[in-house]
Amino acid sequence: MSGRVQWLGLTGFALGVTSVLLGATGVGAVLCLWYPSLLTTPALRDVYDMRLIRWIIKAGLIAGFLCGVASLLIKRRKAMGLTGAGLTTLATLMGGSQVEVSTPVRPSDHLGLDWFLINLLILATLFVPIEALFARLPEQRVFRKGWTTDLAHFAVSHLLVQATVLLTLVPAAIFFRWAVSPSLQHAVAAQPAWLQFIEILVIADLTQYTTHRMFHAVPWLWRFHQVHHSSVCLDWLAASRLHLADIVVTRAVGFIPVYVLGFATAPTYAYLIFVSFQAIWIHANVRFLFGPLRYLLATPQYHHWHHAAESAAVDKNFAVHLPVIDWVFGTYYLPGDRWPVRYGLEGDPVPEGYARQLIYPFSRSGP
Ligand SMILES: [Zn+2]
Ligand SMILES: [Zn+2]
Repeated sequence: MSGRVQWLGLTGFALGVTSVLLGATGVGAVLCLWYPSLLTTPALRDVYDMRLIRWIIKAGLIAGFLCGVASLLIKRRKAMGLTGAGLTTLATLMGGSQVEVSTPVRPSDHLGLDWFLINLLILATLFVPIEALFARLPEQRVFRKGWTTDLAHFAVSHLLVQATVLLTLVPAAIFFRWAVSPSLQHAVAAQPAWLQFIEILVIADLTQYTTHRMFHAVPWLWRFHQVHHSSVCLDWLAASRLHLADIVVTRAVGFIPVYVLGFATAPTYAYLIFVSFQAIWIHANVRFLFGPLRYLLATPQYHHWHHAAESAAVDKNFAVHLPVIDWVFGTYYLPGDRWPVRYGLEGDPVPEGYARQLIYPFSRSGP
């Protein structure tokens, strides 16, 4: 195949993906304007600049439509261009950026559709090009095996943000109120923000390490965590393949020391942003090794070994941030510059599909 034909094919694909992403996000955004109390997050509503939001929706729909048309013109297979152009047209017919929001928006139980769309847009814009340019496995496609299951995990965990936040915060407040000391909390919160950030990072990774290791060691917990390890292709989206119970338990336990010690809001939020990015980054299909830095902070290579289908790597590299924790507890594994040959579980016991994975831990199948 000539270089020009290959370049046109890649450009057509990139335009098609962009068009579908913007079209789907556009439909979702217009739905948020139609049903704000049911589909948007109150904490986010408080900070939205609606003029800016409407401008972004409008620009996104125009760009999505143009990308769809351009993809149709240069790509031989038309499905993606048609889908993207169709979705942007649908969003426009639904009222586009001009849908009136009836105010005041009543507080109610809601799905975090806006939270899901914002995260999807930011992460896909960041990671799809990085993985395309610096892929460790260049032959791995954006829409590789299992991507629909992973996208469903990503969608559900974000849509249920109200419930997952509540289940993260409430257990600490109910069961550990006795451990709170106002004078200690005051002293902790009075430290410089950067120091609190580092302290949260260390403490959270120690609890994450412990919880993660328990999920591997206790057979009935392992059945929940097997869902995460069932990925045979690793990339940024594979990070989301987690059973809801795995997410809630890990976060709730991790929040206990943060709650008891009473860290200030700014470093806590800074850590939450950092951990969300880091947890996705370490799954990415990128080939960076990071030289000596890899011994300080967990890298994709480090966590890819956690997912390796090789006996030497089983039950290794539990930390999310600090490899030194694994080193101290004897679970460290990083064989030079090598990467795993295969990922996943022996015998592929976990079925594909979101619903099947949700009920898998309660089923009789598997070991
Ligand atoms: Zn694991
Ligand atoms: Zn992982």
